[in-house]
Amino acid sequence: MKILEMTGNATARVIDAAPPAPAPGEVIIETARSAICGSEMKTYRGKGIASSNSGHEAVGTVVELGDGVTNLAPGQRIGASAVVGCGHCAECAVGRFTWCRSAKSWSRMHAERFVIPARACSRLPDDLPWDEATLLTGDGMGVPWHTAKKIDRPDIETIVVMGLGPIGLGNVLMQAHLGRRVIGVDIVDYRVHFAARLGADVPIKADETLIERIMDLTDGEGADVVIDCAGKRASVANSFASVRRGGIVVFNGESMEELLAPSRDFNRREIWAVGCWYYFMSEVPEMFDLWRSGLDVTKIITHRFPLDDAPEAFKLFDQGQTGKVLLRP
Ligand SMILES: [Zn+2]
Ligand SMILES: [Zn+2]
Repeated sequence: MKILEMTGNATARVIDAAPPAPAPGEVIIETARSAICGSEMKTYRGKGIASSNSGHEAVGTVVELGDGVTNLAPGQRIGASAVVGCGHCAECAVGRFTWCRSAKSWSRMHAERFVIPARACSRLPDDLPWDEATLLTGDGMGVPWHTAKKIDRPDIETIVVMGLGPIGLGNVLMQAHLGRRVIGVDIVDYRVHFAARLGADVPIKADETLIERIMDLTDGEGADVVIDCAGKRASVANSFASVRRGGIVVFNGESMEELLAPSRDFNRREIWAVGCWYYFMSEVPEMFDLWRSGLDVTKIITHRFPLDDAPEAFKLFDQGQTGKVLLRP
């Protein structure tokens, strides 16, 4: 079968590999779509992965069952969670794989087939198209929904989305759908314009006047919530500078740097900070409901490529000139 190999230093190629075989409890999925995620860029630009890739958002059809799989059958359409818990602890029992102490990440999904534990598969409604399903069962829209649930207070009106990569754009689409006033901020023109098309009421290209402009838009108080989707020193600083007293800063962006000071950032203005990672398996049916209620997640897709052209797709995505990019074997 064909699989994308990330060869490192921002290069990739499609190679031939033996099809995966299922261990007990696992299933083989014939891939219908996989999506490129911003979190893959570190691997793509860095060392790559020999004979493999970091693809972790995919949907497809069950074609083979490992021993002991009783909840799925060949021919069924599924979406996969790439974070998979042990399956028998208290967190897994309520669909919170990300809180399982033995959770593992699965990838290799930019391929004609991939293997995944059966418990990580969500059956897709028959009328849900593949493109929509890719976003609804993956972190592309899963993270924005998981985030939305943490900031569902009715008094929250204005939300700043700081950083408009695919997760930031997903937050714009989600929060606009939920009726919030959205201010979308990035340093890349393409993304700022795209955010406006997804429902950002005020798209802003960040410069030295950013905080002043957000204060002007919020009667000098600051936004009720700021979602940092960049994880950069500047975006984190700007997030705290543009949130109101008693407001909420949500972290979607990843960073291992020490960026915060309690007195400056939290105490004196009584700021709430919320960490947010991936989504819960238990939230996938809620995603289907959102789609039925009119959330058009395909708006966030800007490019579709055959798997053969995945190297080109990654190059384009890496330049920041795309929304969500889908691959099709
Ligand atoms: Zn991802
Ligand atoms: Zn568990």
